[in-house]
Amino acid sequence: MTIRGVTKRYGAAGRQVVALENVELDIIAGEFVCLLGPSGCGKSTLLNAIAGFSPPSAGTIEVGGVPVGGPGPDRGMVFQEYALFPWMTVAANVGFGLEIKGVPRAEIAVRVHRLLEQLHLAEFRARYPKDLSGGMRQRVAIARILALDSPILLMDEPFGALDALTRSNLQDELLRLWGEFRKTIVFVTHSIDEAIYLADRIVVLTYRPGTVKRIIQVALPRPREASSPEVSALRRELIALVMEEQTRFQRDESLMVRQD
Ligand code: ADP
Repeated sequence: MTIRGVTKRYGAAGRQVVALENVELDIIAGEFVCLLGPSGCGKSTLLNAIAGFSPPSAGTIEVGGVPVGGPGPDRGMVFQEYALFPWMTVAANVGFGLEIKGVPRAEIAVRVHRLLEQLHLAEFRARYPKDLSGGMRQRVAIARILALDSPILLMDEPFGALDALTRSNLQDELLRLWGEFRKTIVFVTHSIDEAIYLADRIVVLTYRPGTVKRIIQVALPRPREASSPEVSALRRELIALVMEEQTRFQRDESLMVRQD
């Protein structure tokens, strides 16, 4: 995936917010990339542009040499809030995308069954989302995207609303699935520890306008130990980078409050 000169402005002239400015980034197939930065630095905007939900104001995004012109089956998105259909069972939610694609029913049943097994959801197949915990729902959301077999997974703070233990379990699960399915993952987070635990590369964004501040290759073997000296050094480096942007964000917020 190549991202070239991507700029995104919101709002009418005069009251414009420049959410992204001249973002340049290459992502290799099979890579796990985390976009990291405080709130408001344009992480979701960049992910939505890659997804094709919201085109950039300037610049280009190409996936496999083809310009992104809108959403496509090559890119699956997982949101923070579980975008499941409440009136469908777990199995129906996972199979939904395949049904839309016109995959024969018998094949859907086989693929859904396999995915539910892989995500430890088999015994919950007949349940409805409201009867599941947050972590389970997010597993279903991941299974649903995996069912479509998109080579690229776009994940917008997918574990942000979960408690620490569930989050940590799902991080391990995601790494396992990533190893198994060999997807490219672009994962938005504002958690430094999450980025260190997951990523091959961490892209730190600046706050308004969002640009690439630093790209850090994380060459540490997995699973990464939070207490290891290498992880601690990396954490310190990232805290310093993110804090610089956080400070700019807070200055902006206090200005906005004063204007009100
Ligand atoms: P992040 O995901 O890093 O929190 P976002 O991409 O959500 O950042 O937002 C980047 C900036 O763009 C923020 O300043 C936000 O207020 C602004 N923004 C995002 N979406 C819109 C929108 N639809 N209209 C106007 N401004 C927006």
